[in-house]
Amino acid sequence: MNQSRFGHIVNGERMYTGEEIPVYNKYNGEQIASICCADEEVVKQAVDQAVKTFKKEKLTAYQRSDILVKAASLINERKDELALSIVREVGKTLKDANTEIERAVETFSISAEEAKRISGEGVPLPSKHPGENRMAFTVRVPVGVIGAITPFNMPFTLAAHKVAPAIAAGNTIVLKPAEIAPITAMKMIDILEEAGLPPGFINVINGLGQKTGQYLLEDDRVNMFTFTGSVHVGQHIKRVTGIRKVTLELGNNSPNIVHKDAVNLEQVAQLCAQRGLSTLNGQACISVQRLYVHQDIMEEFKKYLIQATEQFVVGDPENIETDIGPLISEVQAQRVEAWVNEAVKNGARVLCGGERNGAFYSPTILTDVTATMKVMCEEVFGPVINLIPYDDIDWVFNEANNSDYGLQVGLFTSNLQIAMKAAQELEFGGVIINDVSTYRSDWTPYGGVKNSGLGKEGPIYAIQEMTDEKTVVINL
Ligand code: NAD
Repeated sequence: MNQSRFGHIVNGERMYTGEEIPVYNKYNGEQIASICCADEEVVKQAVDQAVKTFKKEKLTAYQRSDILVKAASLINERKDELALSIVREVGKTLKDANTEIERAVETFSISAEEAKRISGEGVPLPSKHPGENRMAFTVRVPVGVIGAITPFNMPFTLAAHKVAPAIAAGNTIVLKPAEIAPITAMKMIDILEEAGLPPGFINVINGLGQKTGQYLLEDDRVNMFTFTGSVHVGQHIKRVTGIRKVTLELGNNSPNIVHKDAVNLEQVAQLCAQRGLSTLNGQACISVQRLYVHQDIMEEFKKYLIQATEQFVVGDPENIETDIGPLISEVQAQRVEAWVNEAVKNGARVLCGGERNGAFYSPTILTDVTATMKVMCEEVFGPVINLIPYDDIDWVFNEANNSDYGLQVGLFTSNLQIAMKAAQELEFGGVIINDVSTYRSDWTPYGGVKNSGLGKEGPIYAIQEMTDEKTVVINL
């Protein structure tokens, strides 16, 4: 296979400097590309250009919107090529990659619409003093240069969730894609150029997080960071960036609760199996991980859950029939294996799965788990579901909340009181009733509490984060 080489993009110029990092096909181990690792000088040049472009060139809201509409259409035209690129660099299945591309088209399209709707608000000034003879309103202005740092698991759509709203809001960008899966994000830049985005509006630096990413964090001229990735790196970014703006989209160990009055248990079990074990091979921040099932329905639910799990096709992710491919690396599969083994050593039972073959980890259901096991209290980021019985709704809400994370939670019930209690008492950024924690629409506000992050994504909400609200007071 022909290998591609990716460098950096500064003011539209391709630059190839720095140590080369190989990029592999995660299924067969073949090298498919290499990227150059940007040093401090390249990062500085990328930020220089972003600053210069922001100060000198402005695109009108209509121009920004038109570029994003065109980009959405080009992504759609190239969807098969882009999906295959994701399959190869991430190892995720073609089914999941197709969904990822559809979501990116949606994200660009929503951002295009929102580019034309950015506005402040009228501010009432009712007091006699100092409000007398004055009127006030706010306007939203772009923050300036945005540093966007993205993870491997959805390399195209998560970049889209940063890049498209940043453009819509009138900012310039320096993007650092995940070094382990950078290829499809690079294709997004070609598409944006073809869609008419002038040079300098988006600049890309490739390379290792601790080098290239770190240089970007240390450049004070970057006004805001938008990051999706691990809690560990998110905490580091928060520490390093001082009083600059950040949005952090981090991990979770998502609880899902199936109450005894849930409608259509078989379908619920199938959905839980799919979203915990098959979708992105469990490498989703909102993957079903802690699955609490009411004891009255546990036996029936368990039967359906195991049946659904046994039907998954494991194999070559390029095959459209495949449900589960490899994890991102053998090292990550070994970590998942070690966590499961540790749980088993401490009393957990494997209901199915629990085996590793290279980077593949079989879809696994555990029971007899305790809250302190790593598979329960940390983010597994692999195809593992923990099945836990309960009989008391207060107890299960308390257990669901008993986590350092708070991204999304799922609850299946036909009891309105319990649903409303969940909306009020569950400490998460998103409470999903009668669907799994993994539900996400690109329109809705999305983001966690506690260690799951800070700020919201979803183009409408990301644009709020990526603009400053300026107050204007007029003395009449
Ligand atoms: P990661 O944190 O290892 O890497 C993410 C990005 O950060 C990469 O581009 C990496 O190069 C960069 N990075 C690493 N160290 C850095 C540093 N010191 N300075 C600047 N940049 C640095 O995450 P990952 O393994 O790629 O992705 C998996 C994680 O992402 C999981 O924890 C998952 O939950 C999370 N995630 C969250 C969401 C969400 O929306 N909340 C979505 C997807 C993934």
